[in-house]
Amino acid sequence: MTVSPSKVGHIGIAVRSLEASLPFYTDILGLKWEGTEDVPSEQVRVAFLKVGETRIELLEPMSAESAIASFIAKRGEGIHHIALDVEGIEEKLSYLGEQQIQLIHEQPKQGAHGAKVAFLHPKSTGSVLYELCESKPE
Ligand code: ZN
Repeated sequence: MTVSPSKVGHIGIAVRSLEASLPFYTDILGLKWEGTEDVPSEQVRVAFLKVGETRIELLEPMSAESAIASFIAKRGEGIHHIALDVEGIEEKLSYLGEQQIQLIHEQPKQGAHGAKVAFLHPKSTGSVLYELCESKPE
């Protein structure tokens, strides 16, 4: 078995302000803004921009307790994580556990758009924060 992601679902980018960041993506890059959603469990407000089959996910902290707020405090704005779309996320997480890959979430939690998501620990991935994402069936 392998994780076998179907694609890079999205790239998460930490920003201080969606309002200040969005015009670059929409007016200069010309990407389609698909909407903004609050994810209260993560204390983060997320804007989605479509680039072909992939999305850019801009992440703005909703409070100082948000993981995105501490990321920006430590490292400034920039690339936060890469999300890989998978099927059967529970099975993939237990497989990763068996491979001694450290998981931030052993069980998936609810992400934006009702997707099931879980993060792998950067200690096990060469310092890249990867998210596995299984979208909600239509
Ligand atoms: Zn994400």
